[in-house]
Amino acid sequence: MNILSDVVIGLDIGGTTIKIGLIDKNGDIIEKWEISTNKEEKGIYIVDDIWHSVTSHLDDLMINRNDIIGIGAGAPGFIDNESGKVHEAVNVGWKNFELAAKLKAISGLPVFVENDANIAALGENWRGAGERAKDLIVMTLGTGVGSGIIANGAILTGTNGTAAEIGHIIVDPDGYSCNCGRIGCLDTIASATGIVHQAMDQITAHPTSDLSAYYNKQGKIDSKDIFDLAAQGDSICKEIINRTGKIIGAELARAAMLINPSKIIVGGGLSKAGDQLLHVIIKYFHEYALPRVSRVCEVKLAQLGNDAGIIGAAYYVLQQYPKRNQAALSR
Ligand code: ZN
Repeated sequence: MNILSDVVIGLDIGGTTIKIGLIDKNGDIIEKWEISTNKEEKGIYIVDDIWHSVTSHLDDLMINRNDIIGIGAGAPGFIDNESGKVHEAVNVGWKNFELAAKLKAISGLPVFVENDANIAALGENWRGAGERAKDLIVMTLGTGVGSGIIANGAILTGTNGTAAEIGHIIVDPDGYSCNCGRIGCLDTIASATGIVHQAMDQITAHPTSDLSAYYNKQGKIDSKDIFDLAAQGDSICKEIINRTGKIIGAELARAAMLINPSKIIVGGGLSKAGDQLLHVIIKYFHEYALPRVSRVCEVKLAQLGNDAGIIGAAYYVLQQYPKRNQAALSR
């Protein structure tokens, strides 16, 4: 007899890979793996790919379909979480894509979809650095800036699913163009792309600097190079990290003034590049937030890494399934 019952399928759908997890009710991962994202024909094969992969793993593990509670998915872009429709996810190719409906049709299971940053916030709060805070902010600094806010114990979604987009707050109206079509969003500075953009400006402005010499020798530069050079004492790179951390700290202080969180969790590739950036963020957060807000708020590193998405997606199912069933029953 299989002792595994009450399994949740957690999906973290990204532009390069789709992370899939079978998670138990406590948030422990039974099995996790990933498949590559097939973006051909605007991503129409993705749902089939996911389900095919899931069923073969369920068979291997001898997990009965009846023991599966549902599927939770974090997807990029703007999401209508009631219908599970993805309005637009540029890096996957979806536009007005009925993700929940399609996954439900192929699996016969209840499906719940949310924005990937919100889902990661739920994951970090359930089993990671959030420690089940009632009010928290999670910011992921990677290729772009992702952010999710939990307020009064629930994800902040907003009128059309666009709440908590801290990455698209304009911090420099004369700055760089953002992929949202506007200029100077936090995303254009506080992401890997933004760090490189700032470095390229400095290379142009200081052609005789060590940074310029490094760039000319390598022929390219990435955000990791800039963190490494800063750690070795390069003053221009240190200043880029200082400026970036100051801007992030200021924006987190503003966001914290709105929800008065007990924790702010910072994750993503840039946060892993040593403590340099985090230290600056923490310093300026506490400097800019109202003392009463700052005093009760701990800024710390995320703990779940790449598992935050699949764990958060599982949590979302456990949270939403009873709630929506209850709503259907009382109708
Ligand atoms: Zn933007």
